[in-house]
Parts: sequence; structure tokens; C-alpha cells
Amino acid sequence: MKSILILLLSTILWQGCYSQNNQKNPTKMDTDNKKNNPVYSRTDSSKVVLKEDEWKKLLSPDVFYIARQKGTERPFTSPFETSKEIGTYYCAVCGNALFKSDTKFESGCGWPSFYDPISKSSIIYTPDNTHGMQRTEVQCGRCKSHLGHVFDDGPPPTGLRYCINGVVLDFEKAKDAEKKYEGKKGGL
Ligand SMILES: [Zn+2]
Repeated sequence: MKSILILLLSTILWQGCYSQNNQKNPTKMDTDNKKNNPVYSRTDSSKVVLKEDEWKKLLSPDVFYIARQKGTERPFTSPFETSKEIGTYYCAVCGNALFKSDTKFESGCGWPSFYDPISKSSIIYTPDNTHGMQRTEVQCGRCKSHLGHVFDDGPPPTGLRYCINGVVLDFEKAKDAEKKYEGKKGGL
């Protein structure tokens, strides 16, 4: 009887580990999904409107959960949170330019934080009264994907803190950033 119990317990534990490992796979799928995503464009600024089941087919499960179901990634899990690379952050769902790295700061809140979007049309602001809080949700100005929230405890000059889920960000390094660095190195 005791051995059956142990067997049963170890099967449950093994299944638990298995499903946890399974959840890590979407990270790899992100890049594949972007290639197969026909709405992703860095140049087309026309609005994207799709039904939720259409989004589900296009996006990886973790991007779909955050962008379309207003989910939140676990804090301190995004490599963008502490990244200091120079470049531009785009919406991972549609390619809309959202933030420049020079407006990024380390807020310590656990999510990538910025104090100013690239343009007024980058972001849509919506009141969010869920979870017993009064917050302002920020959505992508092109595809209306959920990005995160904006708070008024950010640094100057705006005093705003855009707290964004890294999963829905797509980063591209500035092309001249390395050249400038190389130039400096050569001059020394
Ligand atoms: Zn978007």
C-alpha cells in the first residue's frame, strides 16, 4: 500500500515538472510566431483589428495571454528589465514603435520601465479599475494589445512610469550605436 502511494506521488511530481518545462517552450516559439505573423510591420501604421480567435492562431500562448487577455508576466523575468542596450522597443504583436531606449530607466518594479513613448499615437490610454485599484492601462496604438500600465511616480521630465510587460516588447538595436562606439574606441 505504501509503495503504491509513493508511486502515485512520484507520478504526480513528475507530471508537475513536465508541465512546468512545457511552459518554457513559448519563449522559443516567439520568434517563429513573428515570422508567421502577417500583421507585424515596422512601416505600416494602419490600425490592426482582428477577432480574438484570429489572434490566438497568430500569437504564441504567452504573447496571446498578455497582449489579448490582459495578463501580467512574472516580475523580474524579462531580460529587457535591466537591459541598457541602445535602440528601439516595438510592439511584439504588430511592430508599432513604442519606446526609445533613452527613455528607459530602472524603476526596480520588476518590469521594463519607460518615462515617455515615441509618439502620441504609440499608445492608447484606458482607465482600469480591476483588482480594487484605479490604474491607467496602456495599449498599443496600432493593434490595441495590452502592454501594461502607466503610473505618475516616474522620473523627470514627464514624471511618468510606463510599466510594460517585456513579453509584448520587441527590441532592435540602433544600427549606428555600435559604429559610434567603434569610432570612440578607435579614437582613444
Ligand atoms: Zn501593436
